[in-house]
Amino acid sequence: MIGTMPNDALFATEATESTETESGAEPRLRELLRRTWGYADFRPLQREAMAAVLARRDSVVVLPTGGGKSVCYQAPALLEEGGGPAVVVSPLISLMKDQVDGLVANGVAAACFHSAMSPEERREVRTGLGAGRYRLLYVSPERLVGEGGGFRAWLRGRQVPFFAIDEAHCISQWGHDFRPSYRELGRLKEEFPGSSIHAFTATATARVREDICAQLGLAAPEVLVGSFDRPNLVYRVERRRNLDAQLRAVIDRHPGEAGIVYCISRREVESLADRLQSWGVSARPYHAGLADADRSRHQEEFSQARVDVIVATVAFGMGIDRSDVRFVVHVASPRSLEHYQQESGRAGRDGLPAECALIYSPSDFHTWRRLVAQDGELTDNDRRLLSDMQRYASLPRCRHRALVEYFGQRLERGDCGACDHCLGELDDLERVEDGLVVGQKVLSCVLRVRESFGVTHVMDVLRGRDTDKVRERAHDQLSTFGLLADESPRQVRGWIEQLLDQGFLEQAGDRYPVLHVTSAGRELLKGREAPDLYREPKRAAKSRRESKADAESWEGVDRPLFDTLRDLRLEIARERGVPPYVIFHDSMLRDMARVRPTTQAELLTVYGVGEKKAADLGPKFLGAIRDHLGME
Ligand code: ADP
Ligand code: ZN
Repeated sequence: MIGTMPNDALFATEATESTETESGAEPRLRELLRRTWGYADFRPLQREAMAAVLARRDSVVVLPTGGGKSVCYQAPALLEEGGGPAVVVSPLISLMKDQVDGLVANGVAAACFHSAMSPEERREVRTGLGAGRYRLLYVSPERLVGEGGGFRAWLRGRQVPFFAIDEAHCISQWGHDFRPSYRELGRLKEEFPGSSIHAFTATATARVREDICAQLGLAAPEVLVGSFDRPNLVYRVERRRNLDAQLRAVIDRHPGEAGIVYCISRREVESLADRLQSWGVSARPYHAGLADADRSRHQEEFSQARVDVIVATVAFGMGIDRSDVRFVVHVASPRSLEHYQQESGRAGRDGLPAECALIYSPSDFHTWRRLVAQDGELTDNDRRLLSDMQRYASLPRCRHRALVEYFGQRLERGDCGACDHCLGELDDLERVEDGLVVGQKVLSCVLRVRESFGVTHVMDVLRGRDTDKVRERAHDQLSTFGLLADESPRQVRGWIEQLLDQGFLEQAGDRYPVLHVTSAGRELLKGREAPDLYREPKRAAKSRRESKADAESWEGVDRPLFDTLRDLRLEIARERGVPPYVIFHDSMLRDMARVRPTTQAELLTVYGVGEKKAADLGPKFLGAIRDHLGME
């Protein structure tokens, strides 16, 4: 395995024994999934997770992003007869809103209660609660456990059947989103002895899981851990050579589709967002340095599918529930594989194929060491996480396998058919055998011209060109003149860029950028560090093989009809002021464009169409399909 995590951080393989399914409940749950959500069956571990809820047995459910955690507590809440609503603790208002919108669209009585609501809205919810109208109530942890406990006292009189804790890793200091208010949730167990507690998270380490059980005081909980492989994601890793061209290539594979571009620095966020705009891509920046109003507007625009791409620092994420993200690009390495899994996992939550591209340079790891040290202390654990990340990026092996093995699981399939390694794309790049020598040639040339010139002049000297500037400065007399005379200008420029990217050179200067050798560069000159240099590809990268999942997901789909249905969805979403995926997910539209239903009964066989949506949206969608088929 690629990771070197300590044993306690690995997680046990697969789910343990499962609670007996309540007799009689399973068919009812299945029926509920079909009628309310339009799902044909359970996904892995959903049945077990729902059974634990119905049996009032505390549980911790770990499923990857997109694994289908929410329905695990939503469906059982609908089977509760009488009593108060099930209470869902969710860390972000935007998450709650999305979930409640989605439930209401499916005809489920749900509400949320949080600080951003107007007094009238709150009053309405309170009245509804008093009348026992809701099956599910979403609240923030602050609302539930803060403020003197008045809200809890009120709830105690309502017989809450169970609490579902979403994003439960926020309770753990070992998780990467620790929130102090989550700690207070430990009170629930004492104050609501009759209610069970069910924790849900996508964070995979055993340490976090144990922390969740301990902090919440769970009693002999059922622990369910799903498979961490995401077969619908295609993983690619590239060395940063020419970021513009590399980023462009990813974006060109997803015209008009939703994506997230992750950067380390705010400055890079701003400049890439501008770049994307200049390419005609609708993109917005998102980072902690923006004014609150701008930041939430950009997030909103992305959520509502008014813009396609968000360029963000890692500050962006937890609040985003857009399920049709078709690509996630990292233009620099994240600081750990846990982070990578979380961030890249925001792609393809709807189960359709999506691409995760990591474009990194070895200097990213120096950058992180510096940043983490600035923030506090760079611990051995931080170092280990970084080197595991670096190994993932640099080793040419199956990415799916590397990821699941890092999380202590095994991948059964041989060729995953969905990563750069298994798709045979890695042969395109040719590594320079004597990279150290080439690097030394370039760096000593930079020193010989006294670190006073830019890329073009250094190239000219290295290539032994007879230019005015060379003659004027007598640079043809330097020992480094013509050291790379046999190489093309493109190649020499490429190596200089690679050395810049890898932190051996840097550019600085008041009037124009001048090349300098960094301290890492001096180590390289002494032969104590080696660069990784590549030859520039001779031809345009060969056209990529379509991943298996991609080919399958479009099988039998009437593409023009799909586009028509997409437009219709957007129109309705705008009218109602909700994100398009609240109307239907892409996967549901694809199925609709495959089945091409023309009657209500046929419509109900489409994935994701429950009774409420069939009644509500059926006439419009069936109309569009009939038109498309040229029917009356
Ligand atoms: P998570 O919270 O685990 O990231 P969600 O609850 O948002 O995942 O579900 C992810 C996606 O899977 C959603 O698009 C949802 O509609 C879909 N989904 C959930 N359960 C099922 C199921 N049993 N069958 C088909 N699709 C499902
Ligand atoms: Zn693979």
